Amino acid sequence: MKRKDVKPCKGCGKGVAHAGPAFFAMKARYWGLDPRGIQQTHGLELQFGGGQAGAVMANIMGADPDLAQPLSDEVDAWVCLDCATRLPLAVLLERD
Ligand SMILES: [Zn+2]
Repeated sequence: MKRKDVKPCKGCGKGVAHAGPAFFAMKARYWGLDPRGIQQTHGLELQFGGGQAGAVMANIMGADPDLAQPLSDEVDAWVCLDCATRLPLAVLLERD
């Protein structure tokens, strides 16, 4: 990591090292479960007898639908130690 790569804290806007010599850098995305894909997968597992064997067979024979869809773009968030311990993840990722 070089100087040009450093970003301010997503929580407080200060430098990420102002609260200590370490910080968090994360890429995160908000996801929503897809009931249709889940039902399709579960139904196929049941058709193959359920349980571990049914899941394996459904994985081989099924269309492998998406079980979740992204509800946001990926956020590249840097967070100082102070904000990481006092702000919920959802709040940090919504801040601009
Ligand atoms: Zn901060």
